[in-house]
Amino acid sequence: MRELPLQFKNRMRMQLGAEYDEFISAYEQPPVRGLRVNLLKQSPEGLASVCPWRLEPSGILDEGFVCEEPAGVGRHPLHAAGLFYMQEPSAMSAVALACRDINDWSGMRVLDMCAAPGGKTGGIAAKMGGEGVIIANEVVRSRAVQLARNIERLGIANAAVTNAYPDRIAEEFPEYFDLVVVDAPCSGEGMFRKDEGAITEWSPEHVISCAARQSAIMESAAACTAKGGRLVYSTCTFSPEENEGVIERFLSEHVDFELVEMHRLYPHRVRGEGHFAALLKRTGARSSNARLEQIPPAKDKNALIALNEFVLSTLNSELPDGIIHLANDTLRLIPREMPVEVLRLAPVAVGVELGEVRKGRLVPAHSFFIAEPGQRYQRLLSFDYDAPELAAFLSGNTLPCPEAWRGFTAVAVNTPEGPRNLGFGKAVDGVMKNHLPKGLYVN
Ligand code: SAM
Repeated sequence: MRELPLQFKNRMRMQLGAEYDEFISAYEQPPVRGLRVNLLKQSPEGLASVCPWRLEPSGILDEGFVCEEPAGVGRHPLHAAGLFYMQEPSAMSAVALACRDINDWSGMRVLDMCAAPGGKTGGIAAKMGGEGVIIANEVVRSRAVQLARNIERLGIANAAVTNAYPDRIAEEFPEYFDLVVVDAPCSGEGMFRKDEGAITEWSPEHVISCAARQSAIMESAAACTAKGGRLVYSTCTFSPEENEGVIERFLSEHVDFELVEMHRLYPHRVRGEGHFAALLKRTGARSSNARLEQIPPAKDKNALIALNEFVLSTLNSELPDGIIHLANDTLRLIPREMPVEVLRLAPVAVGVELGEVRKGRLVPAHSFFIAEPGQRYQRLLSFDYDAPELAAFLSGNTLPCPEAWRGFTAVAVNTPEGPRNLGFGKAVDGVMKNHLPKGLYVN
């Protein structure tokens, strides 16, 4: 690992006193890797019984585990099917704090203000279990696209990915969200073991400029938080300016917020890279804040006929409930509670893409297959994770299928809780042509 900046070491010596030596010796250890089970697709017990890697409970989140990062994990069928998300364990503490004691998510409105690549969004959406809605926002467009890909893989159907600056979100959603999460861009002192770039970029001036940016983001976050709602602030850095300092300043300027809990995790005290999280509550009672305008449903008869034909010829049951929305020939299934304002925030994805209407037919989307379990499909090819067929499918190859099959066919990995889809293809004359998006091919 690159030498740590002297000024950083001096600051940490002041901050930690007698504990400093232990802290600094943690940098001689390799970074701790972890995995969070995606409860939308599997229970921790289910994954543990099929997963080939040793999982040790993280002690931070019930569905979080410490695990050696398996070589090529991104190419593994259990990963492609969205059964888990690789996340270092201490980062899961913000999800645990944000979701603590929330047992009923129905009607809940959640905003993840700085969401890419989606670790916190995925953790919270898993707890939500498909109830309520979650808006995952990211200012950098390319990162928002990556975020949308992760949300798709995890099968999160009640999310929208927006691409806006926090002040724009605040303009569209005054006092709207029951839970707002700000996992702020920071000086990344907790990334030093994993990312040498964070060491190179670090300076005391950078710490100060991060703190100013964090306070500005918190201003917008405060404006979006409903009365009675929660606001969670977290960073992966240790500097007091970016942590307690931001919270103290915020509380002094927002008398209608109170601090519920604040915690710090250091790499010498937990198995993780270190994190800071604070839970704030806005006083008062949530107003009904009813939205009059919903996302407009599709009216185009031909598009709806095409969708109906697809459902009848491919699924075993009706589509899940939601608004069918059509824009640019693309049909989406969107939760009824999704606010229409997301359409004004440069959305990258809203709900689940069903497919594109071309020449009166629906060309289905990968998103829809991966969001639904295998049993929902009339034709399903399902294999154990180490079957050569799945490796072939993930590399973009065709698969053999029964001669009589005609039409869209799901491809899944077997799990103790049923088949979980990796994607789909189209069967004709005993061969299933691969429809996995080319960007997801693995070699
Ligand atoms: N929450 C994410 C997760 O768990 O995977 C990690 C978020 S990362 C710590 C912070 C994010 O904030 C980055 O994706 C970065 O692009 C974004 N960001 C940068 N500047 C920002 C700003 N001015 N306002 C809001 N977000 C910003």
